[in-house]
Amino acid sequence: MSRYVYDFIEGNKDLKDLLGGKGANLAEMTRMGLPVPPGFTISTEACRAYLRAGSMPAGLLDEVEQHLRMVQERMGKALGAADNPLLLSVRSGGKFSMPGMMETILDIGLNDSSVAGLARQSGDERFAWDSYRRLIQMFGKTVFGVPGEQFEAELAAARTAAGVRSDADLTAAQLRDVVGAYKKVFHAHTGRDFPQAPHEQLFLAIGSVFTSWNAERAVLYRRQERIPHDLGTAVNVMAMVFGNHGGDSGTGVAFTRDPATGRRGAYGDYLRNAQGEDVVAGIRNTMSLDDLAGIDPRSHRELLSIMERLEQRYRDLCDIEFTIENGKLWMLQTRVGKRTPAAAFVIAGQLVDEGAITLDEALQRVTGEQLAHLMFPSFDTAAAPEPLATGVPASPGAAVGAVVFDSAAAAAATGPVILVRRETNPDDLPGMIAAQGILTSRGGKTSHAAVVARGMGKTCVCGAEDLDIGEDSFTVHGQVVKAGDIISVDGTSGRVYAGAVPVRPSPVVRYFEGELSPAGDSLLSAVQRLLRHADHVARLGVHANADTGPDAARARRFGATGVGLCRTEHMFLGDRRVLVERLILADGDTERRAALAALLPLQRADFIELFTAMDGLPVTIRLIDPPLHEFLPPLEELTARVARAEALGDDPGHDATLLTAVRRMHESNPMLGLRGVRLGLVVPGLFAMQVRAIAEAAAARVAAGGDPRPEIMVPLVGAVQELEVVRAEAASVLAEVGGAPPIRIGTMIEVPRAALTAGQIAEHADFFSFGTNDLTQMTWGFSRDDVEGAFFGRYLERGIFAASPFETLDTGGVGELVRTAIERGRATHPGLVTGVCGEHGGDPASIRFFHDAGLDYVSCSPFRVPIARLEAGRAAT
Ligand code: PEP
Ligand code: MG
Repeated sequence: MSRYVYDFIEGNKDLKDLLGGKGANLAEMTRMGLPVPPGFTISTEACRAYLRAGSMPAGLLDEVEQHLRMVQERMGKALGAADNPLLLSVRSGGKFSMPGMMETILDIGLNDSSVAGLARQSGDERFAWDSYRRLIQMFGKTVFGVPGEQFEAELAAARTAAGVRSDADLTAAQLRDVVGAYKKVFHAHTGRDFPQAPHEQLFLAIGSVFTSWNAERAVLYRRQERIPHDLGTAVNVMAMVFGNHGGDSGTGVAFTRDPATGRRGAYGDYLRNAQGEDVVAGIRNTMSLDDLAGIDPRSHRELLSIMERLEQRYRDLCDIEFTIENGKLWMLQTRVGKRTPAAAFVIAGQLVDEGAITLDEALQRVTGEQLAHLMFPSFDTAAAPEPLATGVPASPGAAVGAVVFDSAAAAAATGPVILVRRETNPDDLPGMIAAQGILTSRGGKTSHAAVVARGMGKTCVCGAEDLDIGEDSFTVHGQVVKAGDIISVDGTSGRVYAGAVPVRPSPVVRYFEGELSPAGDSLLSAVQRLLRHADHVARLGVHANADTGPDAARARRFGATGVGLCRTEHMFLGDRRVLVERLILADGDTERRAALAALLPLQRADFIELFTAMDGLPVTIRLIDPPLHEFLPPLEELTARVARAEALGDDPGHDATLLTAVRRMHESNPMLGLRGVRLGLVVPGLFAMQVRAIAEAAAARVAAGGDPRPEIMVPLVGAVQELEVVRAEAASVLAEVGGAPPIRIGTMIEVPRAALTAGQIAEHADFFSFGTNDLTQMTWGFSRDDVEGAFFGRYLERGIFAASPFETLDTGGVGELVRTAIERGRATHPGLVTGVCGEHGGDPASIRFFHDAGLDYVSCSPFRVPIARLEAGRAAT
């Protein structure tokens, strides 16, 4: 029979799969001898079994009873006993942190008789009744779905009747009446009495935590964070300690370094005489850890020393939740803490300096996504007006948008919006995802809004207390800001501005551009150091997709070691469109040759510019790819023009010729039509002109003392014969041009047939470059231009894929074709160079796959080059 339950002392921090993050870390702290209340963890395996069967797996409840006996022995108390009762907290905790997404139930074990026991034990009758009413409320809402507002209404009524403004001012007797009213609410909604049996409470609570794994908001959060849906949550059952036991009690959250900037030192929020999620919910304003030192120096000292030990043990920033009960410190949770992207780089650099981790490890502490985030622009504060208000800078970034006051409005908005709330709770998640930024008037750096926004890398200012937030407007210093008004929110400084403040480029980008020196800047030095190390250890090279000299130059400044894809069709747009039109409409060889001859010098100049920018590095030029009819006016427009002219009795002239050509070339499915190599084989001289331009440009660069390294790439090849014909034609052109360096000729692998016949193709190719955009399109049969809007949303929602296969490579299908092609290609052509130039070349998850598959390089847009460099290094360590 499976074993489902583990005492805290039995686990350790590496057992996150089994015990969830929270359980594994509670176990670690227990092992370290830290003051953790006794308890046990029910494994994620139990949750999976429960969700599969819809009921508790056999033997689980017996195991729970057995472990409960141990907790009771250690505490010298019995669960829910009338005298000196043991109370329990029941908390969710999956492998990955999902803050506030699943359920927690506190004070399990309270009932009509143990409430008196708790009052005697604590000497505080008011506290006992307050705890009991909290249990009924939390339990009713979580286990039986009683609407929270019904309880809130009773509490509000009690306050009004008592003539007090705060719950804290209600007396024991008044709270006892609230308990009576709560029980009626419970009965009215569930048709049964609030369960008095402590063990029944416990089992129901465990079941509801399991169930909360599939709560809508939890599913949404997992989708957003790409957490698999089949992991399940563990459940941590722990003896309750009380932060709401009077002035020498309280509860807090702390970080061993500043999670926003990475600065060293203990940071945190403490809330006196409060329990559980009060701090995280940001409902009341908190005091700092320094203030705690003033009121309870002994606990403060102990806390700091524990935090230091945790840092040493985890070798990373830790965040913790603690409670002080009558002057005694208890650790309720720790984990390696979330942090902003800037803090991630700064801390990784610090830890290397401190000798805590190696550079290889430091690479694992940062991600390409974080680096991408640091490359976003921020506000130009010099151009900003006086701020409307300043709050807590909870998650950096510069967000400009129209004010919305609820999640639904944010989710429904078409343009950028800022979600403005007094505080957020998990129900606001869809709005937080949709918004550019989040602004709240309450709560600190550990409030729900702050934690969730940081996790998403979304701009957030919280605790802007001067804001008086109403239903559809907020007032600040007498100024009214209405729904739909534009505001700017600076998550780095905490400032909020009316109107749209201009944004300026990120310092990280300016550093890449060579405009800022990293000296003396902890973030830029960390970025520099980690990227250098990534370059040092990476096996994958990083090239850029660039079509112009300036793009190539930027890519080079950003660290690209070549151009992996120059899309030459981009050189046929603008003014040159007429020349292409002449080529298409050419009547006979002479006209066609003239059209090509006009294009030749233009192409040559393009390539000279590119080779100059990438001097000494490879430049892979792809022969023209898209359908030629894209260079002609759209059929509908032209038809209308001709019809109009004819109706007016005018001669449609040139338009009539164009229309005939457009009709002749029209394809129902151009993506599967006359593109790439097919076009080259159909339009005589087109590819030859491009090859000549490349060779002549290279020769010109050599003559000028440069070191051009061109490569020619043939698109959309599906059969080796196509490549053979093009190669032969190219070879004869190359033979005619003197003074150029040797030019290798390779092919894209972007048609499934090419991947499958890669063995034959490789015999005639100097290199392969995977065009994973088309390969994905043709492998799935998804039109890359249409699917995103059409049905991908639904597919993502239903979990058919976790991410769009056009963004993150579908390793199971498209990836198999890539592996197959590499294997077959290298079998007939040992040492064949392979790369990728589809969008996936800049996607962190896909880069890891390409590294594992043994590619030589990835090629991506210039802005993603640093991200790809970092990820290539991470993949190799
Ligand atoms: C590809 O298909 O992946 C590719 C790089 O070519 P394009 O996107 O230009 O079709
Ligand atoms: Mg393609």
